[in-house]
This record gives sequence, structure tokens and C-alpha cells, in this order.
Amino acid sequence: MRAGTIEIIIAILRVTVVTTSISGFYLMTKYVCLICGHEYNPEKGEPTQKIAPGTPFSALPADWVCPVCGAEKRLFKEVQE
Ligand SMILES: [Zn+2]
Repeated sequence: MRAGTIEIIIAILRVTVVTTSISGFYLMTKYVCLICGHEYNPEKGEPTQKIAPGTPFSALPADWVCPVCGAEKRLFKEVQE
């Protein structure tokens, strides 16, 4: 493999890392359960459900439910701050 090819691969990886961190920043939006008022904070995740800190609401599994009342994802509303 030529040296130039490696440089291109490194450049692509750098762009990917930057893009991921930017979108991660914008996705750190809190969501609140419309049924019980429980708030999902992406910065903290959901330790009781083994959801790691830094997981955006959109990245939660489709079958994720409210840890308090069991409401579906679609019953959560974005918190405007
Ligand atoms: Zn709830």
C-alpha cells in the first residue's frame, strides 16, 4: 500500500470522528415522558436499563420504554430549554 493511500484513510477517519462528535452534541436533547413526567437525560443515560451515558434519545432501541411507567418512545416529547 502506498503512503498516500494511508494518508487518505486517516483523513477520512478524522472527518468521521468530527462529524460524530458534532451530531452527538446536537443530539444531547432531553426528552420527557408525557405519561409520568420522567425525564430522559442523554448525558446520564439510563443506568437502570444499562443505557450508557452519552446515548442520544434517537439512538435508544425502538422497543425502549419509560423506566418508570413503561410508556413507549413515541410518548416522549423533546424538552425545549
Ligand atoms: Zn413514563
